[in-house]
Amino acid sequence: MILCANFKANKTRQETRAYLAVVESFVSANTIDDTVIVFPPFTALERMSRNVLIGVQNAYPAQNGAYTGEITLEQLEEFGVKTILIGHSERRHVLGETQEQIAAKFRFFAQQGFVIIYCVGEPLAVREQGDEALMSYIDAQFEGIDCNYADLIIAYEPVWAIGTGLTPISQQIVEMHAALRAKTQAPLLYGGSVKVDNARSIMELDNVDGVLVGSASLSANDFCEMIAQAAELKNV
Ligand code: PEP
Repeated sequence: MILCANFKANKTRQETRAYLAVVESFVSANTIDDTVIVFPPFTALERMSRNVLIGVQNAYPAQNGAYTGEITLEQLEEFGVKTILIGHSERRHVLGETQEQIAAKFRFFAQQGFVIIYCVGEPLAVREQGDEALMSYIDAQFEGIDCNYADLIIAYEPVWAIGTGLTPISQQIVEMHAALRAKTQAPLLYGGSVKVDNARSIMELDNVDGVLVGSASLSANDFCEMIAQAAELKNV
């Protein structure tokens, strides 16, 4: 399983240090071999050897340059970061990233050999229009994206489930993940209001290879509990 913690714009450097100390000691004490990836804010990046992967929530697709307010490859290299989240719904819908910009970002970071967690997902209004509209919306989010990229991980995150406490019913997740599986052999994560109470049953579903967790990952203990659930699933 792959378990990702997306802090969004939460936590200071000190809080992130304390959090990682808890998660890293949990991972070594329990000899966890699932992949754990934490996406802290840029200000909390540090170059340290770790038993969890550290990724960034965004970056500008350039080596360096005149991109005021952005972070580029040069800054990520300073911290040894080689993992990036691309296409998150908050970047698409709150920050207005277009598919063209997202695809350019994907191409750049794929060329640099990054592990890319590529997010797709539909707003509620699209889901309510039925399966055809739903799939053509998701298909459009793959424009310019190489589904055969070796270090690709896909996260299906319905926009209406992110930060809302709502989750799709199991059948909706299974159907979407089956459709995604037909497109790619990349691991498929589910994201959207995953928490301790529902993580296990989501990770048990067909074609679910892990979870991308926002709000509920802010508690190191809760995130460790989800890591434990993933490890237990292997033993049943
Ligand atoms: C996310 O940020 O990708 C996410 C899924 O958030 P939440 O778990 O809070 O819904």
